[in-house]
Amino acid sequence: MSILSGKFAVITGAASKNGLGKATARLFAEHGATVAILDLDQTAADEAARDLGEQHVGLACNVTDRDACHTAIHTLIERWGQIDILVNNAGITQPVRLLDIEPENYDAVLDVNLRGTLYMSQAVIPHMQTRKSGSIVNISSVSAQRGGGVFGGPHYSAAKAGVLGLTKATARDFAPDNIRANAVCPGFIATDITAGKMTEEMNAKVMAGIPMGRAGKAEEVAGCCLFLASELSSYVTGSEVDVNGGSLIH
Ligand code: NAD
Repeated sequence: MSILSGKFAVITGAASKNGLGKATARLFAEHGATVAILDLDQTAADEAARDLGEQHVGLACNVTDRDACHTAIHTLIERWGQIDILVNNAGITQPVRLLDIEPENYDAVLDVNLRGTLYMSQAVIPHMQTRKSGSIVNISSVSAQRGGGVFGGPHYSAAKAGVLGLTKATARDFAPDNIRANAVCPGFIATDITAGKMTEEMNAKVMAGIPMGRAGKAEEVAGCCLFLASELSSYVTGSEVDVNGGSLIH
């Protein structure tokens, strides 16, 4: 039997073709899960879901909009009867230096990465509580642990560090309900979030800090999400798992 057969998973920000969310959705589907791809654009979400097979669902959902999060989760519970896994993957980043961060930079980056993770968790946890079962995987970043050093500015590091705190608090509060929450901290993974935006100099600096000497692949983050979403990690909660080619070896 496949490791996620009979499981229903919601993944935010999963329509991006080369992104971590889409790779995770594909891997979950390959391991037997039925997946809902949530993203800003309905057509893109539909296309990504169709790509995985006809039982999968695409839904437009802006994670910064609390009502939209609740509506999406309600729609899926009506349709499926259960949600077992939430992956809070939707995120944006900006290479802005600390002294240049404008209120709109702060709001945009904090809202998608941190507020969105909170809102989606708030939408799904009451359902998981009634079932006494659930796994939440939050995508943070090595930027949270190192204070940047890849691409995103200090507001991105702060948002992703906020995700780590939120993850541990979620894990602590809902462990009695058998709901686990863990964070994944990817290093530099080649996706559209930085595509065409890195200068040669930035790229060389990032590579110099990776002992494995290469960027990660979206599938390598997906593998970690699969472990944390599945029963293989049934006693793992409140953890942060590094997927970074050794970038944090001191
Ligand atoms: P990506 O740009 O390919 O995908 C991000 C997706 O999020 C897009 O499909 C986008 O439409 C969606 N999104 C943006 N705002 C949204 C909103 N308000 N509501 C719903 N969806 C929204 O980027 P990616 O590299 O696949 O990033 C996925 C996650 O991984 C992000 O949280 C990112 O911060 C994190 N991350 C990425 C890297 C990396 O090197 N690629 C490293 C560390 C962490």
